[in-house]
Amino acid sequence: MNLKFLMPVEMISEENCIEKNKEIFTRYGKKCLIVTGSRSAKLCGALDDVISVLQESEVEYAIFDKVEQNPSVTTCYQGGLEAAAMGAEYIIGIGGGSPLDAAKAIAVYGANPTQDKHCVYEGWNNQALPIILIGTTAGTGSEVTPYSVLTHDETGMKKSFCAKDTFASVALGDAKYQRSLSYHFTVSTALDAICHGAESYFNLKSDAISDMFALECIREAIETLIQIEGKNDISHAQRVRLYHASLYGGVAISRTGTALCHCMGYPLSEELQIPHGFATAIYLPAFVQFSSMFDAQKTTRLFQCLNMNQETFATIIYRLCDVDLSAMTLEQKERWLKRFDGHPNMAKNLGSITGEEITEILEGALKRYHGEHLL
Ligand code: NAP
Ligand code: FE
Repeated sequence: MNLKFLMPVEMISEENCIEKNKEIFTRYGKKCLIVTGSRSAKLCGALDDVISVLQESEVEYAIFDKVEQNPSVTTCYQGGLEAAAMGAEYIIGIGGGSPLDAAKAIAVYGANPTQDKHCVYEGWNNQALPIILIGTTAGTGSEVTPYSVLTHDETGMKKSFCAKDTFASVALGDAKYQRSLSYHFTVSTALDAICHGAESYFNLKSDAISDMFALECIREAIETLIQIEGKNDISHAQRVRLYHASLYGGVAISRTGTALCHCMGYPLSEELQIPHGFATAIYLPAFVQFSSMFDAQKTTRLFQCLNMNQETFATIIYRLCDVDLSAMTLEQKERWLKRFDGHPNMAKNLGSITGEEITEILEGALKRYHGEHLL
């Protein structure tokens, strides 16, 4: 059997990771742009830790803190132009998936300031600037994936791009930065990780390596979610487990990409502002049920590994999703169904899916999450 195994990101997850790995911040140059959201990088302490190491190492820096949730192409383009104008030699992203994905796009724009903003989808000339990522949520695994998911300004739709040079050079993780993350976002991001695991596991592109990471991702995340459900007091050890689950899921989707849940979840975030993890996980039990029809053996292996049956798994996932679809309209339902049918992600599912089956999955979510007016 052939085996190709590329893991280009140097991933270091440990306590006080920034302080302990100071030399990394001078490895790529003496000038950098720090990319963050509006609040969390400061709130969780990671930004101050980075600044103190940069000052000590005499690295010049500027901060771009305009990244919104589901970051737009235009925001990233603006960040890229700022990086180029200051002569940044590398980019540091601090935050959840939104700032980390934005940092990847900014690294591309920063190295290609004369190209227009569509170059992230159409191709760029110069290699992206080196990227250091520091994750503050546990779910997207963006630290170890080459993907950057941006919201297109004209269409309002989320679309990803990736290349070898959008893998981070280094990712630093310390679960202490998640202490300030609310219960709501902790659960949502952990569900995102479980979706990555499941969509990679039941994926036409899956292989022995992605399966290994996918199974470990799902097991670690669901066992921890069961422990923390309904509790605001989440221990450091539990945060570490969730962070590692997120990284395993990231490695798994780096090899396979995602499938049905992500494709059907995107419009819920774009138009109803439902957090990404909840938006994808409301379809997860139906996706597993659909996939089980095409690979009974893999399904058995999954639930043996989780030490629970499929019904229990579905009950737990449905219960954890904090979603309300009462504001959804008939126009959205019809438009989204057209978008899902034939979407490239659907081609990654283990078997071909019909329009009726997609409608059934969406309507199942409507029934469960206050969307009965659309049935
Ligand atoms: P996020 O959108 O980065 O952040 C969600 C919220 O949590 C924001 O309000 C953020 O505040 C806050 N937050 C983040 N870390 C915090 C902390 N430690 N303490 C307190 N608040 C904190 O959430 P995410 O779920 O991690 O990322 C979702 C994005 O990632 C989506 O755009 C999704 O499409 C993308 N994604 C990418 C990949 C990939 O492979 N690249 C995979 C899956 C999903 P601030 O705004 O102030 O930062
Ligand atoms: Fe995701």
